Amino acid sequence: ADRIVVKIGTSTLIRQNSKINLKVIKKLAHVLSSLKKDGKDVVLVSSGAIGVGMGVLGIDTRPIKISKQQAVAAVGQAELMQIYNEAFHEYGMSVGQMLITRDIIDYPESHTNVMNSFQELLSMENTIPIVNENDTVTVSELDHHTKFGDNDQLSAIVTNLVDADLLIMLSDIDGFYSANPLKVPDAKLIDQITKINPDIIAAAGGHGTKFGTGGMTTKLKAAELILKHNQQMVLTNGKNPEVIFNILSGEPVGTLFT
Ligand code: ADP
Repeated sequence: ADRIVVKIGTSTLIRQNSKINLKVIKKLAHVLSSLKKDGKDVVLVSSGAIGVGMGVLGIDTRPIKISKQQAVAAVGQAELMQIYNEAFHEYGMSVGQMLITRDIIDYPESHTNVMNSFQELLSMENTIPIVNENDTVTVSELDHHTKFGDNDQLSAIVTNLVDADLLIMLSDIDGFYSANPLKVPDAKLIDQITKINPDIIAAAGGHGTKFGTGGMTTKLKAAELILKHNQQMVLTNGKNPEVIFNILSGEPVGTLFT
C-alpha cells in the first residue's frame, strides 16, 4: 500500500485512569514518520479530543449536554495536537490539523477545498495531516446533516476521498470477533470479512470502554464504505502501533475487510 489512512480510537489513546497514553502516541509518531520517509502517503485520523479534554479539565464522566461535550472537545483537541506535534517533531515531522465536517460531502466548494488541502499536505515531505471532526460546529449526534456520526465513518470517508489503498483502524481489541469478547469470553477472532451481512452486524455488541464511543457497529459501517469503494481495511489492536509495519509487510493481523 502506497497511501494509507490510520485511525486511532479513544480507547487506545486514553487509559482507564483518564491519562493519555503517551507511549502509544510516541510509537505511532515513530511508525508513521518512518513510513512517510519511505515515500508513503500517510493520513492520521485521531479521536480522543473529548477524552483528553476530560483529563485536562478533571471531569470524570462524559458530559451529557452536547454544548458541554463541544467545549470539552475544544480543550482536548488543543492539548491532543500539542502532544502529537511534540511527538512527531522528535522524528523531524510537522503535523497539519484538519478539522472537517460533513459539508465536505454536501457542498462542492467545501469538497474541492478539502481535496486541495489534502493534496498539498500529502505532497509535503515532512508533514502528516491529522484529521478530526470539527466538534464545535457539528450540531449533535443525531444531526446527520453536519455530523459524520463518529471518527470510524469519518476515517472511511477520508480513505475514499484521498483514494488510499488501505485504512488501518487501531482499537483496544485484536479484531472483529464472533461476539463481543467482553460478554462472550470464548468468542473467536474472524480473520477476514468480505461482506457485511446481517450475521456480522448481529455480532457487533455494545460499547467497550467508558471512553470509546462507536463500538463495532460504526466500524462495520466504515468497513461497508471501504468495501463499496474496493478498498481494504484492517481492524486491529493499537496497543503497539508497530503492528502497522507487520500489516504493510503482508502479515495476517487482526481482521482484514477485503
Ligand atoms: P475505539 O475507541 O477504538 O473506537 P470502541 O470502544 O468504540 O473503540 O470499540 C471497541 C470495543 O467494541 C471493544 O473493546 C469491544 O468491547 C466492543 N465490541 C463489541 N462487539 C465486538 C465484536 N464482535 N468484536 C470485537 N469487539 C467488539
